[in-house]
Amino acid sequence: MIVTALPTTVKAPPTLPAYRVTARNQIRLIVFCKHCKDYHFHGGGGHCVAHCHVATSPYLATGYILQEVGEITAAIRRDFRRRRPRGPGPVAVRA
Ligand SMILES: [Zn+2]
Repeated sequence: MIVTALPTTVKAPPTLPAYRVTARNQIRLIVFCKHCKDYHFHGGGGHCVAHCHVATSPYLATGYILQEVGEITAAIRRDFRRRRPRGPGPVAVRA
């Protein structure tokens, strides 16, 4: 038998844009999660276990790949302080 496709239940982790945050001499990455509508912090990039607090988030099954796109911007810092963050907007990441 020739398998031509992965079962549809197995999804590849998505690649999300992550921003570098330096605090107390520690570098962390911050990523906006569209499912939690909130920011998640991570200690490093690459494939991560999702820090989602919304049980229906598909990232809980796949995790996600963080691609560092640069230093956190003033606009993202402002958004992070919002009670309901809106996210950094569309950012191109390598597939
Ligand atoms: Zn999440």
